[in-house]
Amino acid sequence: MVLVDLSTGELIAEPDTPATVLEPDSNEEALASAVGGNAGPIAIMFPSFADGRGFSLARILRDRLGFTGEIRAVGSLIPDQSQFLLRSGFDTAEIADPDAAETWRRTLTLIRHSYQPSARNPMPLRWNASTKAAAELDRALNATDDLAERIRLIAERIDGRIAFSTSVGLEDQVILQAIAKSGVVKAGADIDVFTLDTGRLFPEVLETIELSELRYRTRIRLVSPEAREVEELVRRDGVYGFRRSIENRKSCCEIRKVRPLNRALQGAQAWITGLRRDQSDARADVPMAEWDKERGLIKINPLADWSEERLNAYIDDNAVLVNPLHAQGFVSIGCAPCTRPIEPGEDPRAGRWWWEAEGMKECGMHVAESERPAAPVAQQEKAA
Ligand code: SF4
Repeated sequence: MVLVDLSTGELIAEPDTPATVLEPDSNEEALASAVGGNAGPIAIMFPSFADGRGFSLARILRDRLGFTGEIRAVGSLIPDQSQFLLRSGFDTAEIADPDAAETWRRTLTLIRHSYQPSARNPMPLRWNASTKAAAELDRALNATDDLAERIRLIAERIDGRIAFSTSVGLEDQVILQAIAKSGVVKAGADIDVFTLDTGRLFPEVLETIELSELRYRTRIRLVSPEAREVEELVRRDGVYGFRRSIENRKSCCEIRKVRPLNRALQGAQAWITGLRRDQSDARADVPMAEWDKERGLIKINPLADWSEERLNAYIDDNAVLVNPLHAQGFVSIGCAPCTRPIEPGEDPRAGRWWWEAEGMKECGMHVAESERPAAPVAQQEKAA
């Protein structure tokens, strides 16, 4: 018997510490007990090369039980399994025929990358490629100051559906007009414009959507929340329950905005937003383009570096169609019960959820999942 190091393909000496041997039918309790206080190797038995249960056991040891010591594959193994062993979390394989060692080495060194995530590398190859593509797009967008050119670059570099979520705010209307004027849709770009219809929108928002569709000759999809989730939320918290606590408010935004947004973004290659850095402290570092690993797409903010003055000047110079509520002092416009006009000099987002303390006043659409509050218990049960 010889031992192959699966990360290099080289033969290595067997360590002095004897391995704890696990049979392929070991349950999680047996695995946990093998891990408990064990720094030595754990060997997983493969009674036949057609028996794949050992791969699952290694994943459980690594991913669920956090075992960091050596995991060894023993029993009936063939070189074709070497990559699967490595990616499942094995470190070494015990092979009976020393003459097969060279074949093991070649199969291990032939392929160094995999497309899917594994116990070794939680980031799939696509992630690396997409991070690079996002960084390159970010550089390209930063290299030009011209919005039409930015739109053209986005259309040119994104192969597939480009989702554009619009709240019909000033920034989104600027982007919508720029897309319409650029001609990229006529040239074949697949730009999917949609609004999250939370059920609480101002009538003026819907009117602006209607007028925008006519003026810019485009369709703006309305994406609705799941009726059952809304019913459950209102039954639990009441019609205006979101006013009672931040948790309630975030639950409402989660159900009426975040989940429908995630549904609308599924399958898209990119997501255009109207975020600008000077909208709030929380948005101060917004890049022009970045890889959104939670949603698996490139998030693009083509106005990230625009000031409020520049935005307003562009709107005036280009006669951009805007929501009439802006003339009444509304700046950042969300759902009707959660938006008020602001006074001159107030923070642009002061009119959103004004009963909450300043800081992270975000609905969750632009916040990483790990930083969003957990869903209410009933919703967690549903999701489980
Ligand atoms: S903005 Fe207000 S009404 Fe709209 S989803 Fe959030 S909490 Fe609910």
